[in-house]
Order: sequence, then structure tokens, then C-alpha cells
Amino acid sequence: MAVQESNLRCTVCDREAEHEVVYAGRFVTQIVCTHCGAVTRLDVSEDYLPDLRDRVATKPRRLASVFRDHPLSSTTSLPGRMLSKPLRMAEEVLTVHRNRRRGER
Ligand SMILES: [Zn+2]
Repeated sequence: MAVQESNLRCTVCDREAEHEVVYAGRFVTQIVCTHCGAVTRLDVSEDYLPDLRDRVATKPRRLASVFRDHPLSSTTSLPGRMLSKPLRMAEEVLTVHRNRRRGER
């Protein structure tokens, strides 16, 4: 799960402030105002789950291209990547699940 800092105007405190933008894959699923702590949750489950399926399905190919493009660096960094990847994906899925709108469907 990737977190990026971004300067945005908060809709709650109406200030321009640093916001933590949380990504699940390529989708923004949560935005946190660091000034007032307001959390904006975005329901990306309908887009995220098919995207996750694609990412898992194309993973062997993507790993192969990492080896092809960076044969030396990938051998040294691969064990860490292989260990952290499932954990990061699980975090993403949990965050997306938490941010789903309830009772609307
Ligand atoms: Zn705010």
C-alpha cells in the first residue's frame, strides 16, 4: 500500500494542508488531512478487485520482466520483495474493504 503526501485544500477545515493520500494499487482509497485529521474514504472496491485480479494474473510476467531488465539488482532485492508483497497486498485489500460504503447495495 503506497502513501503519498500531497498539498490539498481540506473540505472539512477549509485549509490548504498536507494530506496523506493512500493508494490501493493505482486507486486512491483514503485521504487524511494532517491539519485536522479528517479522513475521506473512497469506495474503490468495484474497480480495485478486478484490477487486483489482473495484477495477480500478470505477476509472473512482471517478475520475469524485472529479471530481464535488472538481472543483478533483482537477485539481491527479490527475497525482500517476495516477503513484503503479499503483506502489502493484504493491507490494500483490508483498507479497500474497510472503506466500502455499507448499506448502499
Ligand atoms: Zn482538514
